[in-house]
Amino acid sequence: MANYDYDLFVIGAGSGGVRAARTAAATGARVAVAEDRYLGGTCVNVGCVPKKLYSYAAHFHDAFEDSAGFGWTIPQAPTFDWATLRDNKIEEIKRLNGIYSRLLDGVGVTLINGRAKVVDANAVEINGDRVTAEKILVAVGGWPWTPEFEGSEHTINSNQVFDLDSFPKRFLVLGGGYIAVEFASIFNGLGADTSLIYRGELFLRGFDREVREFTRDEMVKKGVDLHFKTNIERIRKVESGLEVTLTSGEQFEVDAVLAATGRRPHLEGLGLEALGVELNTDGTLKVNERYESSVPSILGLGDVTGGPELTPVALAEAMHLVQHHFTQNEGGKTPAPLDYQNIATAVFCHPNIGTVGLSEEEARERFEAVRIYSADFRPMKHTLSGSDERCLMKLVVDDESDRVVGAHMVGDDAGETIQGIAIAVRARLTKSDFDATVGIHPTAAEEFVTMRSVTRR
Ligand code: NDP
Repeated sequence: MANYDYDLFVIGAGSGGVRAARTAAATGARVAVAEDRYLGGTCVNVGCVPKKLYSYAAHFHDAFEDSAGFGWTIPQAPTFDWATLRDNKIEEIKRLNGIYSRLLDGVGVTLINGRAKVVDANAVEINGDRVTAEKILVAVGGWPWTPEFEGSEHTINSNQVFDLDSFPKRFLVLGGGYIAVEFASIFNGLGADTSLIYRGELFLRGFDREVREFTRDEMVKKGVDLHFKTNIERIRKVESGLEVTLTSGEQFEVDAVLAATGRRPHLEGLGLEALGVELNTDGTLKVNERYESSVPSILGLGDVTGGPELTPVALAEAMHLVQHHFTQNEGGKTPAPLDYQNIATAVFCHPNIGTVGLSEEEARERFEAVRIYSADFRPMKHTLSGSDERCLMKLVVDDESDRVVGAHMVGDDAGETIQGIAIAVRARLTKSDFDATVGIHPTAAEEFVTMRSVTRR
């Protein structure tokens, strides 16, 4: 057997790479990780974690307003200081980076600071050294992508938006995906005049139609200025900001434009092309159920492979990959392929969206007959707050089997609620099981077990 420097060389210390490195090392494998930017990858540094912190910050806006009906007087109008939020966030991320470093260190993983290049099926080059490994894991994630138009260089992307020097009082977001709606809600909540520009007829393509419409209406009520069926034609820098012209002819002057127009695999300069490693048509790394690329010693997982771009998916893939490639060597069982069905997600726009399983539209295509149960109501909190925010809950049921095949919510903490419902949907429970479950009162979540009348078939 060839004598390699390592059993596993991981390129990229994001969620998936770190989990694979730690888990493989725990089986006794000799593991190194190369990272040229920051420990924890997108999620910890410029994604889920700082985004959620900023979303908390933005929620205070509503909380201050809601408090009056409950008897609170706030003597002065609250003011928001961007630098405090940003700098506290920076400190928290530093703390998390430290935890990641200690986690790797604690299981004996060698951490190398630098960008690795794969030079053959079992070797990488890093900082001028050639290092060999039985397996190389490409876990380099994705990178924000911005379309080119006149003045597109004046946009910022989701890597840059967290650390702006000053707070953009007039903020414009381009795009209609997760990042666009989340940041439109965040900057709106923090007090910016916020607009969202989306080329399609309604944002959040792929989500349940009713959820998308409901979210649109709630975001408008909160003051986000939505523009659909248009795009940015050009951006010009003017003395007092950025002048944005849309294809519809409308013009805005803003302080910052966030391009939230998708992410691409971060494969440049990695050397995979020269080795003939196959890619998918969208440029992501092609892997099989064992996370092997067309060169079997080169593995891949997470965003770079083009699956659902979600941290928990990368973590689950890492666990599977280690079972396939390391635990089995110790007599472990061959794991079943990872189940990509019914992965719950949340969109942290305001109010939040939580969703699992099929949309109504997908269910109608897949099943002969479906029953839809939906409730659109004013949450109890807002009877006193006076806020006109509403909450949507929805179950999609296959009529023949009575199975709940989709659950959707738009409302406070929707992600928290849907996480529990996701277990029931994954376990293929029926509407009768939901009905037989006694609710928790008073909660919004109890609606999921008390909806009895069919809204439509
Ligand atoms: P998405 O792929 O979700 O959305 C990209 C958006 O940009 C789409 O609305 C797309 O429009 C639009 N777009 C693409 N190209 C152009 C163009 N040339 N001109 C104008 N608009 C364009 O990407 P995001 O950047 O929002 O997020 C990336 C991924 O990160 C998500 O898919 C998600 O998996 C993950 N993520 C998850 C979060 C969570 O779990 N809460 C939070 C943030 C990100 P169209 O719909 O017409 O194609």
